[in-house]
Amino acid sequence: MKAVIITIGDEILLGQILDTNSRFLARELTKLGAETVEMRSVADERNAVVRALNDAFLRADVILMTGGLGPTKDDLTKKVLAEYFDCKLVQNEEVYHWLEEMFADIPGRMNKYNVSQALLPEKCTPLRNLKGTASGMWFERKKKVLVALPGVPFETEYLMHAEVLPRLKAKFTDLFLRFKMITVFDVPESEIALKLASFEEQLPEGLGLAYLPSEGYVRLRLTAKGKAVEKLEEQYEKLLTALEGLPYQPSSEGESREDLIRRLKNTGVTVASAESCTGGNIAHMITLMPGASAYFLGGVVAYSNDVKKNVLGVNPQDLEAHGAVSEPVACQMAQGVRKLTGAQYGVATTGVAGPDGGTKEKPVGTIWVAVAGPKGTVTEKLLISHTRERNIGRGSVHAIQLLLAQIEKDK
Ligand code: ATP
Ligand code: MG
Repeated sequence: MKAVIITIGDEILLGQILDTNSRFLARELTKLGAETVEMRSVADERNAVVRALNDAFLRADVILMTGGLGPTKDDLTKKVLAEYFDCKLVQNEEVYHWLEEMFADIPGRMNKYNVSQALLPEKCTPLRNLKGTASGMWFERKKKVLVALPGVPFETEYLMHAEVLPRLKAKFTDLFLRFKMITVFDVPESEIALKLASFEEQLPEGLGLAYLPSEGYVRLRLTAKGKAVEKLEEQYEKLLTALEGLPYQPSSEGESREDLIRRLKNTGVTVASAESCTGGNIAHMITLMPGASAYFLGGVVAYSNDVKKNVLGVNPQDLEAHGAVSEPVACQMAQGVRKLTGAQYGVATTGVAGPDGGTKEKPVGTIWVAVAGPKGTVTEKLLISHTRERNIGRGSVHAIQLLLAQIEKDK
């Protein structure tokens, strides 16, 4: 099943909002096994919508669109769809009843705009929206389906889960896109490609391998389309064999940063962070995932030398002799935060994030990471890049990888 997503809204084209609906819908369609072949954002304008619909009907079996259903707009989407499906806008009694129920507790609140939400193209099946007043609309033409959803993301999400996905599942049984994800940590893309060259060569038709590099890891996506879906499992096993020797981890959602943190959480040890150049990013990554309080005790953002000395107990002579970006300082920061918090493991970073502050000996991108644990302290020197964001991002990921490796070793 092929799908096209159309989002309607001047505010998207003006750059005022990010079109998160497309991403959400595409993700749900992919999970379902459908293939999204195009996403398009168009203005709040009749001709733009009609052009997008014409194109979409040529390419897709299912068209999902969002936006422009509200009572405040001139009901552009509904008008255009009524015209497109050659029918009238009529008061839908069922929808009117839903609205009455929604406003039952607030007498007198249902105004003429709310009432106008019951006006729908005659040929659509309304989809009940329990999160707002604009109903979704389901149209069928020959064997194709068009669904119009409200623009507000949580309303779109509600309707997609409650109404649209179950209907799509029932109607399209020949879904044919499946994939599996694997994350390889800390190995350059080119090296992985070398290792997988013969695996890729033998891949049967309909299967494809994609490389999605990120900071500190590369995600691999093995995708199967059509009949090749039957061969996905067997090829996945082959891929695992081909990856032997590399640090990899299967990932269901394909969110590898989360996988890394999940692994850390599952180790069952307590952790604290002492961060200079990463500025709290490690603590942020860890605490983004629910349940962090079970193992993350706390962190110190030790940006200045004074905080390194006074809070973490870094030796002033070492700071003087080696500089803040050095192995002994990284070690003492990790040991210091471990002592300060009572955590089993302390992880530390100190480096030159850039763009300024680099020297010949310590160019921008030089980062020392250290992990102090019950069996001693390990360090690693990184040289990442000249981009501040990348240094902070990759520095954090590397530090967590070192932490994980050390926890594993100590077991
Ligand atoms: P409403 O019933 O609230 O008027 P609507 O269907 O008319 O909904 P819009 O008016 O187009 O939808 O959008 C409502 C709000 O939803 C926008 O202000 C915007 O914040 C958000 N929104 C709209 N489209 C998108 C999108 N594609 N991605 C993310 N947010 C969106
Ligand atoms: Mg809009």
